[in-house]
Amino acid sequence: MTIGWHFDNSYSKLSKTFKEDIKPTPVHEPELVILNEELAKNLNLNFSGIDKKKLAEIFSGNSLPDGTNSIAQAYAGHQFGHFTMLGDGRAVLLGEHIDNKNQRFDIQFKGSGRTSFSRGGDGRAALGPMLREYIISEAINALNIPTTRSLAVVKTGEKVVRENLLNGAILTRVASSHIRVGTFQYIAATQNLEDLNTLVDYTIDRHYPEIKSSKNKALDLLSLVMEKQCQLVINWMRVGFIHGVMNTDNMTISGETIDYGPCAFMDQYDPKTVFSSIDKFGRYAFSNQPPITKWNLARFAECLIPLIDKDEDAAIKIATNLIDNFQNIYEEKWLNMMRDKLGLFGEDKDDLTLINKLLDWMKNNNADYTNTFCYLMGVDFDDEIYKNEGFKSWINEWQKRVKLNNSSDTYLELMKKNNPFIIPRNQKVEEALADADKGNLETMNKLLKVLSNPYSDQKNIIEFQKPAPIGNEKYQTFCGT
Ligand code: AMP
Ligand code: MG
Repeated sequence: MTIGWHFDNSYSKLSKTFKEDIKPTPVHEPELVILNEELAKNLNLNFSGIDKKKLAEIFSGNSLPDGTNSIAQAYAGHQFGHFTMLGDGRAVLLGEHIDNKNQRFDIQFKGSGRTSFSRGGDGRAALGPMLREYIISEAINALNIPTTRSLAVVKTGEKVVRENLLNGAILTRVASSHIRVGTFQYIAATQNLEDLNTLVDYTIDRHYPEIKSSKNKALDLLSLVMEKQCQLVINWMRVGFIHGVMNTDNMTISGETIDYGPCAFMDQYDPKTVFSSIDKFGRYAFSNQPPITKWNLARFAECLIPLIDKDEDAAIKIATNLIDNFQNIYEEKWLNMMRDKLGLFGEDKDDLTLINKLLDWMKNNNADYTNTFCYLMGVDFDDEIYKNEGFKSWINEWQKRVKLNNSSDTYLELMKKNNPFIIPRNQKVEEALADADKGNLETMNKLLKVLSNPYSDQKNIIEFQKPAPIGNEKYQTFCGT
């Protein structure tokens, strides 16, 4: 029986500026931890007849599928505002798998050994962070938010040295591509216009074929990427997701969420929420995500200047006008997204005030972002906070506005499509990871199951809905190195 791999490796055929040809470094004693059978099925892959030992060989890179041509991709990035030449320092792209619908997916190993881009790093990853990426990326996908996916995690049987000795692991990541804003920055930094044109054409071919024959491809690409990334950040704001490390190397051109290092979901609503231990000044705080998206897009625009217009001043003017419009586009989309969360059809002139009043109330009362919307959808949390007079009077105003709806759908139907009952609560994720590290996968599997259906009001899930108790030590996340 065959697995069904069908590799066609277009990126590896680009010139050597774009990548290093390299194989994953074999590992000592791989052991399969988790395989995403549902995702495998979507990709038309079938692993059912294969024993665990062989699966571990496959997903560790010890035994490579036929048709792969593995590479480490070159990219650069602004990390916390500082420009650095980077690249896949601990990842290799096996190749692009084509499914039955002719869709192309990158199949990448993360944690697969050193490459020429590793700088001081060991090229490896630890089990906790790889499972964390698995859990949260799959949760984001279930929330209907574009994201890279996680196909499998193996333990390598080797230790990695961090502050402590940790179990080594490799994640198999699936993405519509790994082309980043930073990929453009890398090529732009080499000042080779031919390579830059190649990258623009390659990207358009792969992600935006509708502008293949447009007059100003670079400008149209910028505009489409802006739309995609704007929509992405709107989705993050909708569910209270804080990416945590929105460096330009972690922003995809496809508009998929990528790089689940220090990300986490917000409990109590506070726009200043930051979880990442290294984000000392809150650059990537919850409410900073939209302006940072714009900032990153401006870096993308800079790469494209030579292709937008031969006259540099004219090119800068055109690109600046486009990027300056981000704020308007974002605000309009955000307002509509919040209307959806509140079950409001149509537009009323007081909608923005109504929405901001609720957010202020949540902030002033330490109300949980997710659960407040669940409460409005009729979930009774038996929480004193929702008996608060201020909240009751806000509900009155809201109900008056709901009465203005003019739609065949009910307000509740709209709310249920936009407000999750379940998000990956930080303490539940930590509990699952701690058990998995000890070899007990039950906690994680249970969590994954609940997270796979976030928009349905499942029974007996209250333990997964509770925020971390207020007053506990502040939750902190770390980059997944
Ligand atoms: P990240 O913080 O995961 O976005 O990674 C930023 C950069 O550091 C990328 O170029 C990674 O490939 C590289 N990197 C992260 N961890 C390691 C590691 N353990 N060994 C080598 N390179 C790494
Ligand atoms: Mg990264």
